[in-house]
Amino acid sequence: MTAFPPDLLRDVQRRRTFAIISHPDAGKTTLTEKLLLFGGAIQMAGTVKARKSARHATSDWMEVEKQRGISVTSSVMQFEYAGHTVNLLDTPGHEDFSEDTYRVLTAVDAAVMVIDAAKGVEAQTIKLLEVCRLRNTPIITFVNKMDREVKPPIEVLEEIESVLKIDCAPVTWPIGMGKAFRGVYHLLHDQTMLFRPGEEHAGGETELIEGLDNPKLDTMFPMEMPPMREDVELIQTASHPFDITAFLAGHQSPVFFGSGINNFGVREILQALIEWAPPPQHRDAGVRMVEPAEAPFTGFVFKIQANMDPKHRDRIAFFRVCSGRYSPGMKVQHQRMGREMKLGNALTFMANERVHMEDAVAGDIIGIHNHGQLQIGDTLTEGETLRFTGIPYFAPEMFRTARSRDPIKSKQLQKGLKELGEEGAIQVFETLTGGMLLGAVGQLQFEIVAQRLQTEYNVDAIYAPADIHTARWLTFPDEASQRQFEKDQQMRMAVDVDGNAVYLATNRYNLELLIEKWPKVGFHATREHG
Ligand code: GDP
Repeated sequence: MTAFPPDLLRDVQRRRTFAIISHPDAGKTTLTEKLLLFGGAIQMAGTVKARKSARHATSDWMEVEKQRGISVTSSVMQFEYAGHTVNLLDTPGHEDFSEDTYRVLTAVDAAVMVIDAAKGVEAQTIKLLEVCRLRNTPIITFVNKMDREVKPPIEVLEEIESVLKIDCAPVTWPIGMGKAFRGVYHLLHDQTMLFRPGEEHAGGETELIEGLDNPKLDTMFPMEMPPMREDVELIQTASHPFDITAFLAGHQSPVFFGSGINNFGVREILQALIEWAPPPQHRDAGVRMVEPAEAPFTGFVFKIQANMDPKHRDRIAFFRVCSGRYSPGMKVQHQRMGREMKLGNALTFMANERVHMEDAVAGDIIGIHNHGQLQIGDTLTEGETLRFTGIPYFAPEMFRTARSRDPIKSKQLQKGLKELGEEGAIQVFETLTGGMLLGAVGQLQFEIVAQRLQTEYNVDAIYAPADIHTARWLTFPDEASQRQFEKDQQMRMAVDVDGNAVYLATNRYNLELLIEKWPKVGFHATREHG
């Protein structure tokens, strides 16, 4: 094995890069805020909340985006905790932006799943967990809102196991719930942490009681202790003990109970991230695996965000470093374009501001000013020919045609759509008859694109629903069959922004018939970038 530069290896081992996944309202924003408080990245609760309202209505969302340049804090938050550098990547809350979320999840090494204990496993959580499973991302579970009347904890565990198909290893166990929530017992430390509501400040010491049989507990909580001990006995025999190997393989999730709003159980999550979650791992770059502590710098773009700074109307490409070390002004090779690029002043994101990045290693995210040269999925290296894989596009399920109200501006519309398509805001297809077609996963994407075309490109377009059910990317065994297929299906063919052949299906039935008719043609519901 090649020796890695020791300082690089040390810095990489200290990185933890993760995202929080949850159904809206389960408590992701609250938990993010508390984690940042622990990390000292923000002084006061409320910083993260301020942007939260932005998620609900489009108009609000656009407005707040404009005013704050969509708070940089919302994209990547870096903070120090217990000798580690932690990168927390935000995922959009609204399901219409789920495609964005999927891509963010390709850039993390672990995820924290927040479950509302009263509601159990919800729809969005199921989808997000499926995405994590594609890469076997290790998951830490936080069962939130124990200060409310919630489902019995055993039921919550059973639900996670049966619906999400992941083994649960309870690490803490609650004593009571709602008004009678008393604290949690740590199964590995054999200690009870007492709950006091309203502990809003970080670093407040939690009172600890050693041993589950400690009579002090019975004196304090005579009602709650007997059923709680029964539960613990049951889970100790019936559930899985925590197993780090199963966790790292994505098969088992350590489960913590708490109350985010009361800052209770949050420290344990951070601790689990530091102690158990993996540092940056090797990554598949097509021709070979790239090790995070290799000296040559590599990485990929997983997200592009526009209007980060309303004054400059700039775009930032979010780039995950996969190996080596970033230094300002370094020269890199843009793999897709096959040309050199200078990484002038990459940015990093602290709580309330962006600052110039001086140093970044695997696991860190840097923001690169993008003037159209970078797309989602682009790989940058120091020369070696590599292409990081696994950043997906999903077949859209909503379609609109677009044409400029003023024909003179058709070119401008095309340009705008091409750029927005490259940015991943929407998917853009050009039909063989020359029409522009927009494809989205969520309705809000259309509204945002329409608004951006107007404000950024000064194009007023007419959008009409298209009679298309879904799209499939095509692969052909040879050129002859491609020509034949295209001739046969001319009216239903299109190309995406990268020139890939796409079939537009009017309904599921027709699609199935076609697949049967053309057994050698590949019909793909996802496509990788790049
Ligand atoms: P998000 O949509 O997942 O980001 O959820 P938020 O963090 O915004 O939380 C949704 C709502 O649940 C808010 O009103 C929070 O104040 C509330 N909430 C979050 N954590 C807790 C908790 O531990 N207990 C209670 N009772 N409410 C909570």
